[in-house]
Amino acid sequence: MEEATCTSYNNAIEELRVREYPMLQGTTYLDHAGTTLYSKSLIERFSADMVSNLYGNPHSASNASQLTARRIEDVRLRLLQTLNADPHEFDVVFVANATAGIKLVMDAFRDQEEGFWYGYHRDAHTSLIGVREAAAEHKCFASDTEVNDWIERQDGGVGRVKLFAYPAQSNMNGRRLPLDWSHRIRTSNTTAVYTLLDAAALASTSPLDLGKPDEAPDFTVLSLYKMFGFPDLGALIVRQASASIFDRRRYFGGGTVEMVVCLDEQWHAKKTDSLHERLEDGTLPIHSIMALDSAMAVHWELYTSLYQISRHTTFLARKLYEGLSSLRHGNGEDVCHIYKDPASTYGDSLTQGPVIACNLRNQCGGWVNNAEVEKLAAIKNIQLRTGGLCNPGGVASSLGLAPWEMRENFSAGQRCGNDNDVIRAKPTGMIRVSFGAMSTLADVDSFVEFVREFFVQESQPVGTPPMTSVDIEPPTHSRLHVESLVVYPIKSCAGFSVPPGKAWEVRPEGLAWDREWCLVHQGTGAALSQKCYPKMALIRPSIDLDKGVLRINLVGALQDTASSHEITVPLSGDPRLFSDEAVYKNSNTRVCGDLVKAKTYRSNEVSSFFTQALGVACHLTRFPAVSNGSGSTRHSKAHLQKHQKAGAIRVPGAFPETVPITPGACVSKPILLANESPILTISRSSLNRLNELIKAEGGKAAQAEVFRANIVVAEKPDYPPGLEDPYAEDDWRYLQIGQQYFEMLGACRRCQMVCIDQQTAERNQEPFVTLSKTRRFDGRVYFGEHTCHLPLDEVSSPLGQNPTITVGDVVSPIREDEVHRNSHLHALVG
Ligand SMILES: *Cc1c(COP(=O)(O)O)cnc(C)c1O
Repeated sequence: MEEATCTSYNNAIEELRVREYPMLQGTTYLDHAGTTLYSKSLIERFSADMVSNLYGNPHSASNASQLTARRIEDVRLRLLQTLNADPHEFDVVFVANATAGIKLVMDAFRDQEEGFWYGYHRDAHTSLIGVREAAAEHKCFASDTEVNDWIERQDGGVGRVKLFAYPAQSNMNGRRLPLDWSHRIRTSNTTAVYTLLDAAALASTSPLDLGKPDEAPDFTVLSLYKMFGFPDLGALIVRQASASIFDRRRYFGGGTVEMVVCLDEQWHAKKTDSLHERLEDGTLPIHSIMALDSAMAVHWELYTSLYQISRHTTFLARKLYEGLSSLRHGNGEDVCHIYKDPASTYGDSLTQGPVIACNLRNQCGGWVNNAEVEKLAAIKNIQLRTGGLCNPGGVASSLGLAPWEMRENFSAGQRCGNDNDVIRAKPTGMIRVSFGAMSTLADVDSFVEFVREFFVQESQPVGTPPMTSVDIEPPTHSRLHVESLVVYPIKSCAGFSVPPGKAWEVRPEGLAWDREWCLVHQGTGAALSQKCYPKMALIRPSIDLDKGVLRINLVGALQDTASSHEITVPLSGDPRLFSDEAVYKNSNTRVCGDLVKAKTYRSNEVSSFFTQALGVACHLTRFPAVSNGSGSTRHSKAHLQKHQKAGAIRVPGAFPETVPITPGACVSKPILLANESPILTISRSSLNRLNELIKAEGGKAAQAEVFRANIVVAEKPDYPPGLEDPYAEDDWRYLQIGQQYFEMLGACRRCQMVCIDQQTAERNQEPFVTLSKTRRFDGRVYFGEHTCHLPLDEVSSPLGQNPTITVGDVVSPIREDEVHRNSHLHALVG
């Protein structure tokens, strides 16, 4: 019955649309939350009004002026009637848009003597969030529960006037928030707390009832173009009982004053008659206000009431939700991930507006890039919105992005409106589809059809190996595993051991956060290394992903040198963009003779921390991500990679007869600087063999840390002792670690730096002496293997979008002659 009513109403709209919205021919318009569309009748009625009447500037006594003034007062009344608001209880202030209304409220609060406390809900539009910059204290409420608790407790902002603001409907996913908060806040608070309701999104497809002034928000803002499509106008509705807050507004201008003296005396008298006269600075947008009259009249003629519009659009959104939720890939996986609030229900107009925010996934579970969705939508003439949607709190919590990740993405070049929208296997924006009064079931169908046509994958594409986690054959028969993972956040300083169980990101330039920073000499700009400054081993950085900081501690002998033992710097790449003081200055740094673009921290605290610790004037610098102009970013550390064939070689293996190797001429990949390869892998059994020889000569055994390895591969603990296979890595061509593949680029050439004890910073003779006796080829000494990650089938699966490895992962070495036996690897390296 309900469904039948809805369908017949929909048919009526289809007919009306042909007449009234000729601009919708051949297109699917799904961005009513951006703005809805004006009808032909509205434009015709407005134009007839303009052509047949003479309207002057209202501030004079002429007939034309008086006509304008009268009409404007009528329109004000009419708008209040639309909201069921009594003109004795409420006033309308015309503004350019909803944002301008919010700013007018902000002005009044900023001009309060003690400043103001500002609270806002996580789902707020950026226009509401910006108010915090004018507040003396502010708080973002992360959930409805936090708001409810605060209403009970009334804490925060002692001695100040308070303003609480929230959207009646999220512009991101259309979730509708409780409308009783204003009333509850007013009745449960002993001190003055004002409420600001942002109804810009709600009012376009839902009635807003201000019939009970005691329960209404003090301030309500509207975007009238979102309600009617035209004119481009906003309104601020003020509860008269709360109007006195504007008495302290300092600015005046245009028609808002009775008299101004500005020569010998500075004096002015503000208008006192009505609030709108005091707040409408300058000439009103008179023609827009006149157009609003036509807009309201025509809208109700076409659609009867907002109640009808609400019912219709709620019906459409439920249909779209059902349609999108039912789409499946051939392998049964979901296609649409819809960002619905758990507290809302599609089909229930109290909790959910006609908006759907979602992202699409491919059959491997990877995220589809929204730039791709937009391009295809444009081809199909579908108008929708993608990106951050001016709703940072809602987007971050829906996408699970921590603040440091958002800053990091921002530093990595991600901006509102660019192509870079899947980072670390997480989308950074979403697709938004929204309906308005003139939307129809045909719009719903065409969007569902669009997704089905381009994004539903019916079957496995031929020739591509399956890359989902279940499909990858687990390398169970291997006797090796990852014993430890270590990153060296500051080049040449101590390592940070990745905690067991923590999946660590593998980036093209190495393990995440490895050698992201370095110390440079204040005079020469050259990077410092342990070779000259062994005490760098006692500077111990650690990565704190929860707090989003790099924490640096001093240990051992360094503890007495500096006035503080710990400092932190943000992990996000470019804090200059987020804090008022400039944190960096640009500089060029010399690393191993190469000029590298780096950013130096300006902070004296940071520089003096390291300078005191090492006894040499130095700065901390960071290698920034640099954009290569095509939307993706490359790390400037990648500059360190050299396309040259010297520097690393393949060492003749233990079984040279099985692997024919010509030293120095066997690697196709770019070779890296010996001390700056993306990843360094060493073998525990090789280290054990080395240490046996050292101990046999009475020397001091070497720790794994001296080799600055990132990955230590070892026999699993249950593997029988005594059957180790030292230096087997000389013959490895590839490694499968967990579900990722790595290429071995060649052996790593060693120098005396391996002799620095990483706990005490003292120099020894070993292990270099023994190494040079047992691992010297062509006059050079080698230990460990340069390694780089092989990206999986680019963006199709979460494994490919966010490659990670974990301590304990199974390691399967693959020799050159075994490559053809591993189908996945074979597909990757051709
Ligand atoms: C559109 C929108 C705004 C901004 O409105 P303007 O009229 O562009 O200033 C603010 N809040 C919400 C919820 C919106 O949907």
